[in-house]
Amino acid sequence: MNNSLNVKQCDVLIIGAGLAGLTAGLKLQRMGRQVMIVDKRRQVGGLCGTFQLDDYEFVIACNDFGSGLIDLLRSLGVGVEFIHKKTLIYYKNQFYDAAPSLATVWHLRHHWRDLLSLATAIARRIFSSSEPVTIEDFIDLHTQQGPVNDLAKVFCYFMGAPPYDMMTSFFGLDKEYGYGYNRMACPVGGPQKLVDAIAEELTRQGGIILLDSAYLGHRKDQGFVVDVSHNGQQQCILADNLVNTAEQSEAYPDDTKRGLPLSMMCVVVDSDFSYPENVHTLCYYESNISEWFRDLDQGKKPREFGFHVFSSDLNQAVDYYTLNVYFYLPRGQNSLTSQDSESYKEYLLNRVEYMLPGINKAIRYTEIITPERFKEIHDLSSRVMPYISYPYKPSNIGQEQGLYFAGHTVYPPGEHAGAAALSGYLVADKILESHTKQ
Ligand SMILES: Cc1cc2nc3c(=O)[nH]c(=O)nc-3n(C[C@H](O)[C@H](O)[C@H](O)COP(=O)(O)OP(=O)(O)OC[C@H]3O[C@@H](n4cnc5c(N)ncnc54)[C@H](O)[C@@H]3O)c2cc1C
Repeated sequence: MNNSLNVKQCDVLIIGAGLAGLTAGLKLQRMGRQVMIVDKRRQVGGLCGTFQLDDYEFVIACNDFGSGLIDLLRSLGVGVEFIHKKTLIYYKNQFYDAAPSLATVWHLRHHWRDLLSLATAIARRIFSSSEPVTIEDFIDLHTQQGPVNDLAKVFCYFMGAPPYDMMTSFFGLDKEYGYGYNRMACPVGGPQKLVDAIAEELTRQGGIILLDSAYLGHRKDQGFVVDVSHNGQQQCILADNLVNTAEQSEAYPDDTKRGLPLSMMCVVVDSDFSYPENVHTLCYYESNISEWFRDLDQGKKPREFGFHVFSSDLNQAVDYYTLNVYFYLPRGQNSLTSQDSESYKEYLLNRVEYMLPGINKAIRYTEIITPERFKEIHDLSSRVMPYISYPYKPSNIGQEQGLYFAGHTVYPPGEHAGAAALSGYLVADKILESHTKQ
C-alpha cells in the first residue's frame, strides 16, 4: 500500500477507503482509470476491519455479510473465502434461527395463525405496490402480541431503529438489490482480511491508497482541485472525477432522526471454552421489543433489553479468542461512568451465560466501548443506521459535474456493508458511462 503523496494527479480521487470507496476504486482501476483513494485513518476498511485493544484483536463493527457482496467481490476478481454461519435468536429460553427455517416454524407451530397471517401479508406487500406503513403498525395488525410479533421485529433491533420508525418498504430491499442477507456469510480470518484483499487487488492493478490523508475540501477548475492533509501537511491533488464516501449529513433534512449508536463490550475468552462452531451471532432478545426499544429511543434505560454477541473468528494462533457483545445505550447517552460500566457488564455477562453456559469461567478480559469511545478510537460513528429515512436515500450524483457520492448514507437503500459496496459499484458504473458519453 502506497502511503506517500508523490502522485498528485489521477483520473478519479475517492475519499474514504471503506467498502464503498474500495469497491468503486477497484472497479474503476480495472477499467483502466487511474484511481487514488485517500483516507484519514491509518488502515483501510472504515467500519469493516479489526483493531487492537490492550494487545487483543477485536472486530471494529461489521462482521457478517450477505451473499450479494460475495458475488460482487468475485466479479471484481477479489479472492476472499467466506463461510456460512447461523444467527440464532435466544427468546424466552428457546433458540430460533434468524433466517426463516423449518426449525423456526416448528418451534412457532402453536402460533401458526400469526405465522400464516404475517407471511401472507408480507408476500402481498412485496408483490403489490401498496403504500409503506410502519413495521410496528404492519406487524401489530397481522399478529397478536407474542413470539411471532417480537421475532418479526428483530431486524429493527439489529438496525438500531424502533419498529415504529421503520417502514415496510424495507421488506423488499434484499430482493430488489440482491443483497442476499437471508444467507449470512463471514470472511474467513475476519473482516480485515476482506478489506485487505480488496485493497491488495486494487494496488496490484495500479491503484493508489493514501492513508493518514484527510480530505479538507475542493474547488472546481477544469477538473477538481482537492485539498488533503497528509501527516499534518496540506497537499493538493488534481482529479477529473471526485467520489466522496464520507457520511453525507448535509444531504438529509436537519430533522432526520438518527439510528441509535451501538455500544460494545469486548470480551476475551480462553479457547478451552468452545463457541458453537456453525454459529456467528447469538442474539439475546427480550420480549416486547416495541416497549423496551421505545424506552431506549426516549432516552430511558429499560429494566430488560436485548443485545447480541458474535465471535470474531480471526483464526489466530493463540490460546484465546475474542467476542463482541453489541448493545444500545439510551438515546443521548454516549458514555458511561465506571460504575455504570460495571453494571452493564454484569447485566450482559449474566445473560450471555444463558446462551453460552459456562462461558463466564473462561472470560479473561472485558472492556466496554461506548459510542463516544468508539469515535475516539476509530474516528467513525457506531450507528448501523446513520439516518432513519426509508424509502428516501440521497442521490449518488453531486451538484458539480464529475462529483459523486457513495457509501452507506446515500443510494441504494439498505443499512449494511452490502449496500455500501453496491453504492461504490454503481457510482463506478456512472463514471464509466459519463466517460463514454464525452
Ligand atoms: C457497529 C456496527 C456494526 C455493523 N455490522 C454490520 C454487519 O455485521 N454487516 C453489515 O453488512 N453491515 C454492518 N454494519 C454496517 C456497515 O459497517 C456499513 O454500512 C459499511 O461498512 C459502510 O461502508 P462505507 O464505505 O460506506 O463507510 P465507512 O466504512 O464509514 O468508510 C468511510 C471511510 O471514509 C473515511 N473518511 C471519512 N471522512 C474522511 C475525510 N474527510 N478524509 C478522508 N477520509 C475520510 C473514513 O475514515 C472511512 O474509512 C455495521 C455498522 C456498525 C456501525
